[in-house]
Amino acid sequence: MTDTLDVVVAGAGVAGLGAVALSRSINGLLPDRIPEARLCKGSYFSLRGRAPFSRLIYPVPEPGGLGVHLTLDLAGAARFGPDVEWIDRIDYAVDAARSERFYGEVRKYWPGLHDGDLLPAYSGIRPKIHAPEEPAADFMIQGPREHGVAGLVTLHGIESPGLTASLAIAAHVRALLTHSG
Ligand SMILES: Cc1cc2nc3c(=O)[nH]c(=O)nc-3n(C[C@H](O)[C@H](O)[C@H](O)COP(=O)(O)OP(=O)(O)OC[C@H]3O[C@@H](n4cnc5c(N)ncnc54)[C@H](O)[C@@H]3O)c2cc1C
Repeated sequence: MTDTLDVVVAGAGVAGLGAVALSRSINGLLPDRIPEARLCKGSYFSLRGRAPFSRLIYPVPEPGGLGVHLTLDLAGAARFGPDVEWIDRIDYAVDAARSERFYGEVRKYWPGLHDGDLLPAYSGIRPKIHAPEEPAADFMIQGPREHGVAGLVTLHGIESPGLTASLAIAAHVRALLTHSG
């Protein structure tokens, strides 16, 4: 039983940015059960030198994201991000010019940030299922009862906090499959 469930879940669509394309390739899954894929990039800038903080700092969220917050890694290095950039194609390059807005956002809670101390770090792309002007969408998790395909669970829009919620999502998916017979 466990092996069967694992195989079905892996094939069903925890595919991140590829979830919509994967769903479209599944026979019997009606198009009106599949959302439109939208890409929302979040870039990060790291801090040259050490940050004078020992805790994470979260500003008030902005539409599309959590706000440019401060994260400290286990080695104590500081990173700021992610920002919100709606894009048409996948591109993970961090545009150094975006640092201008980062200085403004970070200085709202750390006025002491010096010019030249932010360095382009990395980026991620959120698999959004709502348009920029629409309210944020919740995760879309559909089992056989919603889309009518036996043994299938589709997961769309699993952006933040998808990692934090992953164990709860997995339990929910298992329940959907178990109860679908
Ligand atoms: C900028 C940013 C910041 C975030 N911050 C947080 C945070 O602070 N806290 C939090 O909880 N979450 C955060 N998240 C969200 C978190 O990263 C995601 O929710 C999580 O990674 C989703 O996991 P997943 O397995 O669904 O997708 P992914 O991690 O994207 O994995 C999907 C996998 O499927 C593969 N795949 C795609 N298509 C196919 C296919 N057709 N066949 C086979 N394989 C395929 C891909 O290559 C990939 O390996 C953030 C995301 C971003 C972009």
